[in-house]
Amino acid sequence: MSQPIVIGKRKSRFKELAQAAIPGGGNLDLCLTCSSCVNGCPASGISDMDPRKFLRMVLLGLDEEVLQTPWIWWCSMCQRCKRACPMGVDIGALVFMARQQWSRENTPKGIQKSCDLHLEFGNSTGIRREDWVSLCADLVEETRQQEEDWKDLPAPMDKKGAAYYLNQNAKEPTVEPEEMIPLWKILHEVGIDWTYSSEQWDAVNYCMFSGDDRDWEAVVRRQSEIVDDLGCKTLINTE
Ligand code: SF4
Ligand code: SF4
Repeated sequence: MSQPIVIGKRKSRFKELAQAAIPGGGNLDLCLTCSSCVNGCPASGISDMDPRKFLRMVLLGLDEEVLQTPWIWWCSMCQRCKRACPMGVDIGALVFMARQQWSRENTPKGIQKSCDLHLEFGNSTGIRREDWVSLCADLVEETRQQEEDWKDLPAPMDKKGAAYYLNQNAKEPTVEPEEMIPLWKILHEVGIDWTYSSEQWDAVNYCMFSGDDRDWEAVVRRQSEIVDDLGCKTLINTE
């Protein structure tokens, strides 16, 4: 059970900032305190916080506490709270705004480092371009040689004009590369014309969680440029 909120007379500057930035003001003032958002939230109870309590603290002007709680980094941005809320209150957007107030140095290392690696290497685990290309080539060659039924299996890289551009969760090539092969087989079996990119191919964008819109946009923008350069019609994001 969360502890009660203790307040004095305060006015929330953060609330005003957030309402100006969140589309439609985020409906923050419409909260009925019904708790529907709390029940489905995977971060409820962590750091003695939950989405309803976080919202109440913003509304009560507890800026210092709101901008210091590590709870905001446990929010998965899943938006379950918004979907469950009868008033459509957008607590995920509020959490994102709170993250934007944290300095880059204080952003949790796991998120920030994964984002930085994505910006530098095109994937969040920092696999170099040549290693990614040779890993895929080796895996597909091994499969062709060992499995008679898949001797024509493709794993295309930078194929111009492919109908589908495929992204890959970077965890797989990093720790369990053989897990990529079943997907290649399915795509081949159903006749999908697809390709990976050698430059940027990670399906996960940690920059979305860091609170820095510019980094987030840089990853998405580069991704879409590559899709356009290759002439692909559809992006398949596997995450
Ligand atoms: S579900 Fe919506 S109305 Fe209910 S407590 Fe949460 S934010 Fe308030
Ligand atoms: S968006 Fe964040 S606050 Fe809302 S339900 Fe998901 S984890 Fe909880």
